[in-house]
Amino acid sequence: MRKPKIVVLGAGYGGLMTATRLQKQVGVNEADIVLVNKNDYHYETTWLHEASAGTLHHDRVRYDVREVIDTQKVEFVQATVEEIKHEENRVILDSGEISYDYLVISLGAESETFGIKGLKEYAFSIVNVNAARQIREHIEYQFATYNTEAEKKDERLTIVVGGAGFTGIEFLGELSNRIPELCKEYDVDFHKVKVICVEAAPMVLPGFDPELVNYATSYLEKKGVEFRIGTAIKEATPEGIIVAKGEDEVEEIKAGTVVWAAGVRGNSVIEKSGIEAMRGRVKVNLDLRVPGKENLFIVGDCSLIINEEINRPYPPTAQIAMQQGEVCARNIVALIRGKNELETFEFDNKGTVCSLGEDEAIGTAFGKKFVGAKASFLKKMIDNRALYMIGGPSLVFKKGKFNIF
Ligand code: FAD
Ligand code: NAD
Repeated sequence: MRKPKIVVLGAGYGGLMTATRLQKQVGVNEADIVLVNKNDYHYETTWLHEASAGTLHHDRVRYDVREVIDTQKVEFVQATVEEIKHEENRVILDSGEISYDYLVISLGAESETFGIKGLKEYAFSIVNVNAARQIREHIEYQFATYNTEAEKKDERLTIVVGGAGFTGIEFLGELSNRIPELCKEYDVDFHKVKVICVEAAPMVLPGFDPELVNYATSYLEKKGVEFRIGTAIKEATPEGIIVAKGEDEVEEIKAGTVVWAAGVRGNSVIEKSGIEAMRGRVKVNLDLRVPGKENLFIVGDCSLIINEEINRPYPPTAQIAMQQGEVCARNIVALIRGKNELETFEFDNKGTVCSLGEDEAIGTAFGKKFVGAKASFLKKMIDNRALYMIGGPSLVFKKGKFNIF
């Protein structure tokens, strides 16, 4: 009898969690498993702000996909997914095509620019290793160039971060540690450097615990970050950004570096493939399948599940992507074994910790609030746990964060 073929697209948190669970639960004679990913490496998306600021080398945030998959059981294909022909159970890749019986889409997020003019051309986004490396290099270039010019351009030393969500705040935390190092390295006066965070909402980290938000804001302000709250970015230009000021006024902020961290959307492959979605996120059934599709699962940032308590979608997080990966693998195993009763996904919220640099953080976990070194310790443990869940103790020893004391 022909074995069913399970294809997993994307080797991020959701994809690797699904693939590593499938390789444990599926016998070699039961199914063929194929994992497709653009790069031969996985990157910790949740550490990209560190690589972007230059506080952690980009090689520390990535590892070879083959380190965590059992190549006897899972075939790894390095390719870029271009389109999913879900009516024909085929996936179009840049290097050919692949057919499937069961498909898991876990292609992650892209930056959402909301159609704001100039952002795609003139702003950076913290989206993958290539982007992180470019942001780090660009900032360093601005510092290196500053003293070479007869007429000093102070705007070279201005960095604008668009959005004070978790990505924006974590990046600011890393930047505030990196800037004194850059000043020293390039003989730049620290007081010439400006780091401005522009946030459209009336508060930093909208919706998060106000006491923790105050802690984060005052900590970052002490380190030199300037917050422009209730201020929306309207346009990015080669010189910087234009922000809304009051009802109909605008203001220009000149900056050599603009990093847009003001939102994400699901992967554009979803829309290109004609799958009904909201900003690239598909409202999946609780068994993680696309409505009306018996063999199509979506996990991670391309999926959307409503939090019934507040009647709003859960935010796209690694925590959810990993939990979905486990359920998705079990459901596929059930289907290939001829069972029709599938498990429903229930999010087990373990808390949220937002780092503010290497040894500072804020967060909620176990029903308690944490700040400072304790929160930072927690954050590193969360990072190490994610490694453990996917690659076991050897991956933790290799890539883990042990700078905890
Ligand atoms: P990803 O982990 O991003 O993986 C997607 C994979 O698909 C990647 O390997 C990518 O290369 C691949 N891929 C993409 N397009 C293609 C294609 N066309 N063809 C082939 N392969 C492709 N969440 C938390 O819970 N806690 C945190 O502390 C946290 N911190 C974050 C910090 C930052 C700076 C950012 C940006 C996000 C953070 N998040 C955090 C959110 C979290 O990273 C995402 O929710 C999570 O990565 C989603 O997992 P995923 O599997 O959907 O996608
Ligand atoms: P986000 O959507 O959470 O935050 C974006 C911020 O940008 C919002 O505060 C929004 O008001 C602001 N904004 C939107 N348009 C703007 C404009 N025109 N001008 C200025 N500000 C504008 O996005 P994110 O921070 O990239 O996070 C993406 C996802 O990743 C979220 O689900 C988040 O929870 C998750 N994440 C989690 C962590 C963590 O748990 N430590 C860290 C990073 C990201």
